[in-house]
Amino acid sequence: MPELPEVETVCRTLNSLIAGKTIKQVTVSLPRIIQKPDDPQLFAALLEGRTFQSVERRGKFIRLLLDGIVLVSHLRMEGRYGLYREEDPVENHTHVIFHFTDGTALRYKDVRQFGTMHLFEPGMEFQSAPLKKLGLEPLSDTFTFAAFDEAIGRRSTKIKPLLLNQEVIVGLGNIYVDEALHEAGIHPERTADSLSRSEKKRLHESIVSTLGSAVEAGGSSIKSYVNGQGEMGMFQHKLRAYGRTGEACRECGNEIVKFVLGGRGTHVCLRCQKPPKGSSVAPAMKRHSAGKSESNAVKRRLDGAVSRGSKPKEGKAE
Ligand SMILES: [Zn+2]
Repeated sequence: MPELPEVETVCRTLNSLIAGKTIKQVTVSLPRIIQKPDDPQLFAALLEGRTFQSVERRGKFIRLLLDGIVLVSHLRMEGRYGLYREEDPVENHTHVIFHFTDGTALRYKDVRQFGTMHLFEPGMEFQSAPLKKLGLEPLSDTFTFAAFDEAIGRRSTKIKPLLLNQEVIVGLGNIYVDEALHEAGIHPERTADSLSRSEKKRLHESIVSTLGSAVEAGGSSIKSYVNGQGEMGMFQHKLRAYGRTGEACRECGNEIVKFVLGGRGTHVCLRCQKPPKGSSVAPAMKRHSAGKSESNAVKRRLDGAVSRGSKPKEGKAE
């Protein structure tokens, strides 16, 4: 599923591609994508003749602003937008086509068919589902430390599932929660109310910097994410913890280990992110002597693996 940086990238790309284009006609070939209104023909009729003005993001939702109407779109697992010329062959799994007056078309493709589209009068989209209950927006000016502290402060929930809860803070998925917690040096099983003020400050800063640099890099391409212009994101090359099981921590050289928390694969460095009492991370983790540099730590690990012969299976990624 695309996460916030990917959706932000899609929004920026779409904005550059379709702002100013006027819809001549809308074709819906998979009615279930259209959630509101529930009649796809009415959906089409409401959009025809209108012009896209800008594309904005709220959480992982895309807000496509037209004159007098707002289209709220969620890509879910596999949804993609692409701008085509009318004469380009229509690819499989294309479910909604916005035909423009200038001979181009915005096509929505969705192999898994989980994506959704809702139409609202401008401003009304915030008053009802799916946008109404969304939590703090981590890339906006309103995401202050005070607001973050207020949202998570006294909760006795473990911090990772709390950060994944879209009603608390939007747009943080599995990848960026692991990344932000590693950067902040906080174990994902710590409860929110156990965090000191300085830990919460570090976490707040890490969320902003992790998401900010991911947006700058164009989003991550871990699964099959491609932005609206078909460009792959580059953030995966900079990951600290996520997907690096068995590799050396970039901070201390210790090994990144993976465990399951709340059903989600979770990646930590147990030296940088001290587990709380009763942590579910297996205690019999391979521990390597403190590495001053990453290459030394990797070398030691390789030597160790060879000399020991049998390697514990937790070194396998994913
Ligand atoms: Zn570490």
